[in-house]
Amino acid sequence: MQMKNICTLLFFYFIVLLVAAKPNKMNAVYLTGYTIVMHADVVGEVKCRSGEVVTVELAGRDASFFRVDSNHFLRLNRSKIKSSPDRFEIVLKATTASGVYSGDFTLVKDEFLKNSVVAHRGAWKNTGVPENSVAAFNHAVKLGCGGSEFDVHMTADSLPVVNHDASIQGISIARTQSPELLKVRLANGEPIPTLENFIKAGMEQARTKLVLEIKSSELGQQSSIALTQRIVELVERMGAQAWTDYIAFDYEVCKEVMRLAPYAKVSYLNGDKSPEELADSHFFGLDYNIKVIDKNTDWIQKAHQRKLTVNVWTVNDRSAMNELLQQKVDFITTNEPEMLLGIVKD
Ligand code: MG
Repeated sequence: MQMKNICTLLFFYFIVLLVAAKPNKMNAVYLTGYTIVMHADVVGEVKCRSGEVVTVELAGRDASFFRVDSNHFLRLNRSKIKSSPDRFEIVLKATTASGVYSGDFTLVKDEFLKNSVVAHRGAWKNTGVPENSVAAFNHAVKLGCGGSEFDVHMTADSLPVVNHDASIQGISIARTQSPELLKVRLANGEPIPTLENFIKAGMEQARTKLVLEIKSSELGQQSSIALTQRIVELVERMGAQAWTDYIAFDYEVCKEVMRLAPYAKVSYLNGDKSPEELADSHFFGLDYNIKVIDKNTDWIQKAHQRKLTVNVWTVNDRSAMNELLQQKVDFITTNEPEMLLGIVKD
């Protein structure tokens, strides 16, 4: 082989190596919890994706409200926290055997509503706005829903956007570049929401949780996993960990969220795993179709015994809502959040 060809080959080999070694955009440092519960002392443990933590340094604008103990748990500084703002910006610098890693974090007082109402694709049906719009999310917030669910796909150039179907107005999201896709307007004139804009709207308040569904890609599981990585990176970059719970039909996608973000609350949608299996895989909960729950009524109790939450979808009927609440499900996902709120507030 000629020298020139060898050099060309070597050049491409190094390019491949460089791409493969591209550092993950996520913070190396993470916490096991991001909400501040006033009666609890601990916010979360400081962990590092790059090895065992040896020491932790705490800095940033609101560092004085916290301290890190010798076991690397971030704790409230009790004397100060009462007269504090609702959210805090801190920096955590962790030293491990392989180096020093730091990350910026947003923590928020846990004033999220604790009702069982999850608005399915936002509150759109009785408000006349399109499902999965920022307007539908804002209506769910105004109503006082505990959570508002929405669906996320990814464009051909890897931008996560909010929409239920793989296509919008006949345009395949996965096969379209973002500048083209972002020209799409919803029926209320709103542009198709980017996930970033959707999360921004979510973080303007801290009462209604973002229930983020990672959709399976029409291009296959690899694309679904790539979307999962983009989503977790974005949530971490925006400091939205406290606001965001995850759901997905694809079991591998759920596991990828838990691998990337061990602190994340992840629930499985597909209905084909028992509470035992989900508990063994460290899920937060099961989030199943009402038909699955009707067939397996003992799963509610079995889930609770294993500290899993139970969410049931999509329940739009008053008597079914009442029955599920009697069975002590934790959440009901509904197109009729107004009706369900009326029932739970009685
Ligand atoms: Mg959905």
